[in-house]
Amino acid sequence: MNEALLEVNNISVSFDGFKAINKLSFSIFEGELRAVIGPNGAGKTTFMDIVTGKTRPDAGEVIWGEKNFSLLNRSESQIAQLGIGRKFQKPTVFEEQSVYDNLLLALENDRQPLSVLFYRRNQSDDAKIEEIAAEIGLADRLERRAGDLSHGQKQWLEIGMLLAQEPRLLLVDEPAAGMTLEERDKTVALLRRAAKTRAVVVVEHDMDFVRKLDCRVTVLHEGSVLAEGSLDHVTENQDVIDVYLGR
Ligand code: ADP
Repeated sequence: MNEALLEVNNISVSFDGFKAINKLSFSIFEGELRAVIGPNGAGKTTFMDIVTGKTRPDAGEVIWGEKNFSLLNRSESQIAQLGIGRKFQKPTVFEEQSVYDNLLLALENDRQPLSVLFYRRNQSDDAKIEEIAAEIGLADRLERRAGDLSHGQKQWLEIGMLLAQEPRLLLVDEPAAGMTLEERDKTVALLRRAAKTRAVVVVEHDMDFVRKLDCRVTVLHEGSVLAEGSLDHVTENQDVIDVYLGR
């Protein structure tokens, strides 16, 4: 296995005395695709909030890249700049702008959609945008208004906007929610492609989707790791069957 890119070490966090994360430890490795699953309330969102600096743990460490480089006490924007991108469930693209301009704004790391009026298109941006558009399956829709894309296409565009910022780790929250079957399969292919050049962590409910991702799975329960390994391995685990599959 490669070197750990992100190491979550014995972290705990309580909300009003309730332990949402309880001595959670696990690592994400350079360039891997990982699914994080678990029932509602298992702590998946809180885990992502802690890694991205939105929530501070009460105890434990979050270590990035090189040994002893702590992510604690860093702001959300500092953490993003270090190379951790996060895709929330709802797509947040600039609806009035074209696919091209959305990717350009992401490339320029600019949150003001009207700024595109002042940018001059240049070859290096064009090449980068075409490369990302191909990666997210929107190469033939660059001039399309983002608001006119399907739900699935908007999700891919937002993933593309994150890829434009060249993350080393991409956290993706339930990417397949609300997608058609065809879009879900394309999303599987997109995430597998994306994980060839950076680590991708997918938080997902849908077992069928996780099976198609065909990657290492971490099962969370009550804020801790219950099991880890291939999907077949974790779904044979009696604890997982009891708490997650409810059999
Ligand atoms: P998951 O994403 O796996 O469904 P969450 O991380 O959202 O789980 O939540 C873990 C537990 O922590 C849940 O019981 C949830 O109600 C609780 N929780 C999460 N955030 C807060 C908060 N800001 N205040 C109080 N309780 C919270």
